[in-house]
Amino acid sequence: MSVKIATLNDAWTEVSETVLSDFAAGLEGDILRSDDDEYESARLIWNGMIDRRPALIVRCAHENDVIAAVRFVRAHNLRVSVRAGGHNVAGKALCDDGVVIDLGGMNGVEVNPDAPSAFVQAGARLGDVDEATRPYGLAVPVGVVSRTGIAGLTLHGGMGWLLRRDGLTIDNLTAVEIVTAAGKKITASADANPDLFWALRGGGGNFGVVTGFEYRLNPVGPQVWFAAVLYPFAEAKRAVAFWREFMAGAPVELSSFCVLRSRPMQSAEGKADRQPVVAFLACYSGPFERGEEIIRPLREWSKPIADLSGPMDYHLGVQRLFDKDYPPGRCYYWDSLFFKALDDSTIDQIVGHAANSASPLSSVNVWALGGVMNGVSAGDTAFGKRDCHFMVAVEANWEGKEHVEANTAWVVDFVDALRPMSQAGVYLNFPGAAGGKEQLVKGCYDKNFARLRKIKRHYDPDNVWRGSFNIRP
Ligand SMILES: Cc1cc2nc3c(=O)[nH]c(=O)nc-3n(C[C@H](O)[C@H](O)[C@H](O)COP(=O)(O)OP(=O)(O)OC[C@H]3O[C@@H](n4cnc5c(N)ncnc54)[C@H](O)[C@@H]3O)c2cc1C
Repeated sequence: MSVKIATLNDAWTEVSETVLSDFAAGLEGDILRSDDDEYESARLIWNGMIDRRPALIVRCAHENDVIAAVRFVRAHNLRVSVRAGGHNVAGKALCDDGVVIDLGGMNGVEVNPDAPSAFVQAGARLGDVDEATRPYGLAVPVGVVSRTGIAGLTLHGGMGWLLRRDGLTIDNLTAVEIVTAAGKKITASADANPDLFWALRGGGGNFGVVTGFEYRLNPVGPQVWFAAVLYPFAEAKRAVAFWREFMAGAPVELSSFCVLRSRPMQSAEGKADRQPVVAFLACYSGPFERGEEIIRPLREWSKPIADLSGPMDYHLGVQRLFDKDYPPGRCYYWDSLFFKALDDSTIDQIVGHAANSASPLSSVNVWALGGVMNGVSAGDTAFGKRDCHFMVAVEANWEGKEHVEANTAWVVDFVDALRPMSQAGVYLNFPGAAGGKEQLVKGCYDKNFARLRKIKRHYDPDNVWRGSFNIRP
């Protein structure tokens, strides 16, 4: 049976059974249509709030499948989206009525301990990479929840527990394999297509379908010192001000964020069993014997509700510590703000708005940047925020689609109130409404935007990859 599919220009086209069968026959993977048994589960992504129905899901098993999928989409001028882990909160991995190029089956990781480097297929999760690098005492600096996808994380920056010591994930990227809108596989690196390589380090999914990333590896662990100290939320303003001063003098081997959780958590029986907290979280990846001393001030600042700090396995402990807090299927709406500095009145506002969260599962995470991330020049990669010292992620997390309005309103009000004090743009891995707002996307890149647009014109003049945080050619 033929299938009606949305075109790139928001019209419809009918693709015949013969054409679809020929396309499917050439794939190592498969294609799913809405009446296939696995379709419903294949269209689920991590954020339970996203409910999109693609016309076709192409489950790629090999980079040749990606090339075939891009050529198919181009031949029929179809609407397309790219799904790697499917974790971007905005749900841009899926498109309604178009074609999803699903890379989830391409998740191999190959480590070369001598270089040391790792080649990672684009469908891999952070945990796949940590598992493969752990035997060598090496790591790629990635995000803090091991089940999430590495492709979207990398293409939009990548912040985690090694941020200040090793930089963003993109600062450790050495080459990218990508299928362009012309359906050609090319490599981008410092030596091959260097302009494209520059753009891919922060420019997101605007330039083609990445099939694999090569990263430089850095030594870490196996044991590191981890701080997790919980103080009463009532002390949050003083706590954040203390942490700000502490981080200003902290070594680059210490990466940290401060969590504001303003509502008591409910137990299964409906009783409030966890107090509202402000928490200091930090990972020290320098010489192990120095770690206890380095994190001590965070533990002794005041009288904690709980102190869960101690030595921890980096790959299997620290990297998985928060996995259970972010189950798939829950509703999520996240936005973010960058700051050059946090003065006391900004902290007051952050804490004041954090106190109004609509769900006990929500939090505000204040990340300390600095170190190697800020040492990279603004023009060296497309990522625009090298001169900011803090990133604030506002995370509404809740159960039940009926509570969408209250929870998104909390995030929107928070961000609107703080926007005048912050820098332009957002962190596209916590994107808020950036998907639909060109000004916000432009603001993410500061002076790099004009160059990104030029590179977009070269690699995607028809704006095929327009579905996420679009840079128009
Ligand atoms: C629980 C949780 C914790 C998180 N923690 C952190 C953290 O600590 N640090 C941090 O920096 N971020 C963090 N994030 C954000 C996360 O990095 C982003 O959501 C990221 O986009 C996820 O990548 P993905 O591969 O799942 O993207 P997907 O949702 O699959 O894709 C999102 C978009 O990225 C683009 N894209 C993805 N893959 C490709 C590809 N192969 N080729 C071309 N374009 C592509 C496309 O435009 C696509 O629409 C977290 C997210 C979650 C859900």
